[in-house]
Amino acid sequence: MKERLARLLIRFSRKGFVYFGHGVAPKRQDSYIERLHILEADFVDLLHYWKRMGVDFISMDDLWQLSRVGFKAQRSWVHFTFDDGYRNNLTTLLPIMEAYNIPFSVFVSTGLIEDGERMPSFYIRCAFQYASKAALHRFYSRSTFQLKKGLTRKQAADFVVNHFKYLPFAEGQVLLKTAVEMLSQAQWTELYEKYNNDQLLTGGEMQQLAAHPLVHLGAHGSRHLIHHAQQPAYRLDEELMHPLRYLDEHPVTFAYPNGTLLDYSDKSRQMLVKHGYQLGFTTAAGFVTQGEDPLSIPRFHLTPKGNWVVRKWFYGFE
Ligand SMILES: [Zn+2]
Repeated sequence: MKERLARLLIRFSRKGFVYFGHGVAPKRQDSYIERLHILEADFVDLLHYWKRMGVDFISMDDLWQLSRVGFKAQRSWVHFTFDDGYRNNLTTLLPIMEAYNIPFSVFVSTGLIEDGERMPSFYIRCAFQYASKAALHRFYSRSTFQLKKGLTRKQAADFVVNHFKYLPFAEGQVLLKTAVEMLSQAQWTELYEKYNNDQLLTGGEMQQLAAHPLVHLGAHGSRHLIHHAQQPAYRLDEELMHPLRYLDEHPVTFAYPNGTLLDYSDKSRQMLVKHGYQLGFTTAAGFVTQGEDPLSIPRFHLTPKGNWVVRKWFYGFE
């Protein structure tokens, strides 16, 4: 669809949506390892695109107000959110948003941040990419699951990341430790340096970000645990309680780690309410339509091009 026509139609067909991204980076060394980071130049292009389309860039507070009226919007809108809490949200993303005066939200995994760790998927991707053949064999011989034969290292890593996500916490920690041990401390030091995009915020940086008037800080668990049926309830309580000491007081928000239809349920929605959360965000793709449940608000994945969202807007498919 031609941009001019799209712009005109967008003005009359009011709709809103939430984007979820992760990091925004000036450059990437490896598009597989650093797959969660969108390039700065692409992100700026995307902002320009939505500016030309004439949608409102709304804040989390605006979104909260909308939720109070059943998400009935007077104008078309978008809200930007970023999961996990990467340091480049402060160093790269924030200066861009300041330049354009656009509010945004960051959902942080506060336990990982406090402990100075990285996301489990980062460790697994790196371990599989850089381990010696002998180390990989040791890993396979110790693992409790069967991998298909003939997988590439990336395919094996993706399989293990997915398997890890749905383990109960304690078993997951054992698997993660085994994966990390495939590489030496010296290798990890080198990889930390090389892939600095995957560095999370420090506690101080998180507070600095939270204090910024354009930024809303929301929760993304403590250790990024997924709300699946195998997860012990006390662990999920901890996932919801730990971030509260850092969050903006109003509204209190949560983004379900992983966030697909498998990763939240009526039970997790009830737990959100119990701990005082007012808005919950998933990664199920969709526009925020009238009557949407405030505890499972859909989000579109943030990708460099905006036009696929516009195709969905008018045709219902990409
Ligand atoms: Zn996440």
